[in-house]
Amino acid sequence: CGIVGYIGHRDAYPIIVNGLKRLEYRGYDSAGIALYDGKDVQLSKTKGKVADLENRVKKEIATNGNLGIGHTRWATHGVPNDVNSHPHYSNSGDLVIIHNGIIENYDSIKKELIKRGYTFKSDTDTEVLINLIEDIKKNEKVKLGKAVQIALNEVIGAYAIAVFDKTKPNEIVVARLGSPLAIGVGEDEFFIASDATPFIEFTKNAIYLEDEELAVVRLGKKVKVRKIKDDKLVDPYIQELRL
Ligand code: GLU
Repeated sequence: CGIVGYIGHRDAYPIIVNGLKRLEYRGYDSAGIALYDGKDVQLSKTKGKVADLENRVKKEIATNGNLGIGHTRWATHGVPNDVNSHPHYSNSGDLVIIHNGIIENYDSIKKELIKRGYTFKSDTDTEVLINLIEDIKKNEKVKLGKAVQIALNEVIGAYAIAVFDKTKPNEIVVARLGSPLAIGVGEDEFFIASDATPFIEFTKNAIYLEDEELAVVRLGKKVKVRKIKDDKLVDPYIQELRL
């Protein structure tokens, strides 16, 4: 299972696909990608290998966009199939998530969300999390980063996640507990990945998130890291990678 993301001035697609290939060693059963060109989200996902995803993408979607997230899945909730593959949309279609890990209490949250009118396409715990984030964002009228933080304080489990919002084209929110997550800091561009191999050719500067940290990765801004539980701002340590 692996996560790759990009936001900047380059085409996100090749960076993400090549990155997913470098993370193949981690093991997976499905792969998927969402690309955003500032107007439309293009999403393609499939059971199988990253090579299968590439074939599908060719037939299915346009590959432009300077923002994107990609995922290799190791199924925990819901069988390996196309629908259960990531990324997942929220009900409004505005929010998009990829997730490695497990949300243990997804069932009770899902029941609550169904009562409030939410519907689910997949059997995953991940689709529950993105709709929980959407529900919090709407009801509490908070920004995406805050909504993700509140949601993560309600879940029990483990995660590395990346989330973006169609109405906020310059931003990706990431968080980790138990699964690794690195942020590559370039010039006017950022990379996100389970380890640094997907982005080492582009930048040598990396922030490794610690457990229970959330980062708002926004173009033109410094990466803002906070502790998910007590909301404390963290001064992120930018590590210099060596080859
Ligand atoms: N629990 C999630 C799912 O089954 C994510 C699994 C993973 O780590 O890839 O969809």
